[in-house]
Amino acid sequence: MIFLKKRVAAIKSAEKRKLIQKLLNAPVSNVRFSKNRVSLDFRDRRISDAILIKREKHVAEWSRRRKQVYVDRGILRGDRVKSFRALCVHEAVEKFLCEKLGLNLDKEAHVVATRKEREYLEKIGGNWRSHQLIVYWDWHLLGEK
Ligand SMILES: [Zn+2]
Repeated sequence: MIFLKKRVAAIKSAEKRKLIQKLLNAPVSNVRFSKNRVSLDFRDRRISDAILIKREKHVAEWSRRRKQVYVDRGILRGDRVKSFRALCVHEAVEKFLCEKLGLNLDKEAHVVATRKEREYLEKIGGNWRSHQLIVYWDWHLLGEK
């Protein structure tokens, strides 16, 4: 019985790894920003969430109750539109992966969302290194991990 449970668990984690690999390779396309909303195509799904810009402890987050992502208004200082948009993509993808595919937030969904954030940023001509310096440096200082 224990042996069987272990086998089932092993098969499940192998399937999860395969799924995550597929998600890492799947492109995000048709990204649109309109009236405080981000929409995009990912894995045959149209994902669409409202964007609320407010004072946030973390640079960006998403709501478990609403179809909404939050971005800290500090991101709008200076010329950071590309960073802002890439973060919205990250949050919308991460929300989708947690809520619809049941992925673990920190170990799975965040990793995939970060890859999509980077791909999108580079597609619109942003620089990943400077984006990281803006986002991760500024907010790390405030205790973000
Ligand atoms: Zn994340």
